[in-house]
Amino acid sequence: MSKYRHIFFDLDRTLWDFDTNSREALKEIHADFQLEREGLTDAAAFTEVYTKINEGLWRAYRLGNVRKKELRSLRFTKTLEHFGCKNPVLGEDLGRAYVALSPQKTALMPGTKEVLAYLAEKYTLHIITNGFDEVQGVKLERSGIAGFFQKVITSEMASARKPDPEVFHLAFARTGAVAGAAVMIGDDLETDISGARGVGMDQVYFNPGRRGHNEEVTYEVSELDELRLIL
Ligand SMILES: [Mg+2]
Repeated sequence: MSKYRHIFFDLDRTLWDFDTNSREALKEIHADFQLEREGLTDAAAFTEVYTKINEGLWRAYRLGNVRKKELRSLRFTKTLEHFGCKNPVLGEDLGRAYVALSPQKTALMPGTKEVLAYLAEKYTLHIITNGFDEVQGVKLERSGIAGFFQKVITSEMASARKPDPEVFHLAFARTGAVAGAAVMIGDDLETDISGARGVGMDQVYFNPGRRGHNEEVTYEVSELDELRLIL
């Protein structure tokens, strides 16, 4: 008999295949907006440059140096600039299109639905995500996994982001879970794993890239299917 009653999942890159879905959305946007006319001849190069710029801006966002609204258009405006196209209005259009399109994408990490079906028989499942409120619900619905989860806790609800204990405390309050009988599953050593450890919750580090690290984790898996061996 497991000591756990509640399981908290991270969403992006743990269940929802963020990288595949983002690439697909960017490819569609590149075609829909005819960006080759603006000098962005190669969709793959557009995606690659966007990804690097986006990562940098997310770091700035986490540090509080960029606001969400700015980030959404700025990552495209800067990508356009990289290719010699100065057009902030187009940057804003692309930003809006991406935020509308990418959550509609449905690629999941391998084995997601199967393992959720298995776990849902034994535990109460929830999501704790740092993503934006309005997009995370769309992702869950569209990809067909919303029904597995009882509560979805977002950082916007908590006005704090993982690994801030506030988010986890809100999750406990909303679900009735206690740290000693709950486990957090996620792909990020800092936000998911050290965040959960900080509030006394066990953790499963989902590490599909099998990256080396020195963090102390309760469990580690490289495929979601391995969760059956633990839970
Ligand atoms: Mg994640």
